[in-house]
Amino acid sequence: MNATAKKPIAIVIHGGAGTILKENLTPAKEKAIRATLAKATNAGYAVLQRGGAATDAVIAAIEVMEDSPLFNAGQGAVFTAEGTHELDASIMRGSDLQAGAVAAVKHVKNPIRAAMAVLEKSPHVLLAGDGADQFAKEQGLPWVENSWFDTDYRRQQWQKARAEKTTALSEDELTKPGSADDFKFGTVGAVAIDIHGNLAAGTSTGGMTNKSHGRIGDSPIIGAGTYADNRSCAISATGHGEYFIRYAVAHDICARSRYLKQPLQQAAESVIMDVLFSAGGEGGIIALDHNAQPVMVFNSKGMYRGWRTAKDAAPLIGLYDKGSEKTWKGH
Ligand code: ASP
Repeated sequence: MNATAKKPIAIVIHGGAGTILKENLTPAKEKAIRATLAKATNAGYAVLQRGGAATDAVIAAIEVMEDSPLFNAGQGAVFTAEGTHELDASIMRGSDLQAGAVAAVKHVKNPIRAAMAVLEKSPHVLLAGDGADQFAKEQGLPWVENSWFDTDYRRQQWQKARAEKTTALSEDELTKPGSADDFKFGTVGAVAIDIHGNLAAGTSTGGMTNKSHGRIGDSPIIGAGTYADNRSCAISATGHGEYFIRYAVAHDICARSRYLKQPLQQAAESVIMDVLFSAGGEGGIIALDHNAQPVMVFNSKGMYRGWRTAKDAAPLIGLYDKGSEKTWKGH
């Protein structure tokens, strides 16, 4: 492709959806979250600006959030019922439908990099548990003790979850008045389109607080939490994973846009606001299609999100619902 045929670039990221209310965030925490979302958006956008691949932009953005204790991915991941961390991540390339994922890893510092290594260096799509950690180590990826992912904030959430409902995984049971913010989802994800018009999507998470040892959510499941296909769209999801798996949310949105020729916004709203909402599944998605127009749809109170297109001089950030969000631009 020659240089004159450059396509419009764009990136959209999320840092989790859930009961995100202004009154539950201190001004300092809100500021820190907005700043990290902006940093992650810019990290991915810079890759696209210099002509980098959409997959590299997705990794750059996700890595910033994995390295931040503010999000439920990498350091700052939630605790399992056993008091450990088991991380899930996946990435998909829209140009050739290649995908890589890791599930229930305990030691690779940046699970999104391990997912990319599975895509590039293995004949498989999904590696889990010890085998996935071992593979990541063999690929030379940084390895940490499981306690490296600990934060006091997440430990307190876990203790609260255990006290309130020891075996509960359902956010419906956990989001009682007064504790709602504590159990919001905090998964991170990114979708990008590069100058060649290639789409990519990635997602990384610690899963859900107090989840059973061995529980795997939607984030590493291609078609559930992540999907990218140049013929339709790129999606990264966040929310109650069991619902996103059963309703094959990411693939369903892409399939509707491709087969029904629905605009992406409409396809996403049908799945998130109608199908998923009726089923009781809380959460949201970020998406991009070939028009490089950001799409962000969530049925929860809020979703941490950031986006930047060629039209934007700086990243745009949103935390709350459309009505109460000053930076919301009507996408
Ligand atoms: N979807 C993730 C999971 O179920 C949780 C989240 O989005 O925060 O593991």
